[in-house]
Amino acid sequence: MIIVMERNASPELVDAVTVRLEQLGYKAHLSVGVERTIIGVIGEKRPEDMEQLAAMAGVESIVPILRPFKLASREFHPEPTKVQVGNITIGGDEVVVMAGPCAVESEEQILTIARAIKAAGAQILRGGAFKPRTSPYSFQGLEEEGLKLLALAREETGLPIVTEVVNPRDIDLVEKYADMLQVGARNMQNFTLLREIGQSKKPVLLKRGLAATVEEWLMAAEYIISGGNSSVVLCERGIRTYETGTRNTLDLSAVPAVKHYSHLPIIADPSHGTGRWRYVKPMAKAAIAAGADGLMIEVHCRPEAALSDGAQSLTPDNFLQLMVEIKAVAEAVGRKSTAPVVV
Ligand code: PEP
Ligand code: MN
Repeated sequence: MIIVMERNASPELVDAVTVRLEQLGYKAHLSVGVERTIIGVIGEKRPEDMEQLAAMAGVESIVPILRPFKLASREFHPEPTKVQVGNITIGGDEVVVMAGPCAVESEEQILTIARAIKAAGAQILRGGAFKPRTSPYSFQGLEEEGLKLLALAREETGLPIVTEVVNPRDIDLVEKYADMLQVGARNMQNFTLLREIGQSKKPVLLKRGLAATVEEWLMAAEYIISGGNSSVVLCERGIRTYETGTRNTLDLSAVPAVKHYSHLPIIADPSHGTGRWRYVKPMAKAAIAAGADGLMIEVHCRPEAALSDGAQSLTPDNFLQLMVEIKAVAEAVGRKSTAPVVV
């Protein structure tokens, strides 16, 4: 249920409605828009309460939200949400590119890549310190040492950092270093992790589960937002289908679907989406054309020697080429890009 306030409703009238809601035992979530304020009501609805609330000054209407996600829905928040990561805004005019290695491997590796992606116009540095690997025998990440190296790369380049948190007990540690917390595909329905991250003040990058519907994905976002953290960015990273020619099937139709159902920004990850570096650039361009607010791209100076995901990693040269080509697509669809003008 949402309470739509009248256009000219004063903050005092909005306050009175939220106070009343809390007295009645509901949780109120405010969405203050340019046009009007909308109050999301969480709790088991009693018709007599709704009648009383509808009669309060400043209330225009009370509308049910039929979809299972409420705070993530467009009805609750009609304008697109912009999420701030350091000095970077995701969901605005500018296409935001997060790039970096799958995993942080060494100081030299992360610093070299950070410098290269910055020079190519990327705005956020990615790199895994805690790696959720399919095999327990694969490289699991440098853990805190990796976080320290990411922080060092941020110090040198000024790029904010996004990195994955795999386990609820590591949130405090990852938060100490990261500007944005990544929830990986394998953890999209780890509800304990989602609830804990809902308490964090850091923005969250929520990747789509390997076999999750758009609705299940938005329900995962709902866990984080209802916990109090509304800075959620979604990331389409490919889903499992019968196709084996690519690692996953990058579902770009999820981009307009998410934009239709939700106010949250969405980016695309054609690296995990395709699993093959040759397919990354074309799918990155397609994602921007489809309306994605940004990209996540894996970059490695020596993909053949990468400790994880080398097959889908771009060299710095190929990444620069991607950025240049992205710029043309971004501008064609009315977005801006920070890629250099000439190669
Ligand atoms: C990653 O970003 O390196 C990663 C593990 O991604 P995903 O969770 O999408 O597989
Ligand atoms: Mn990876």
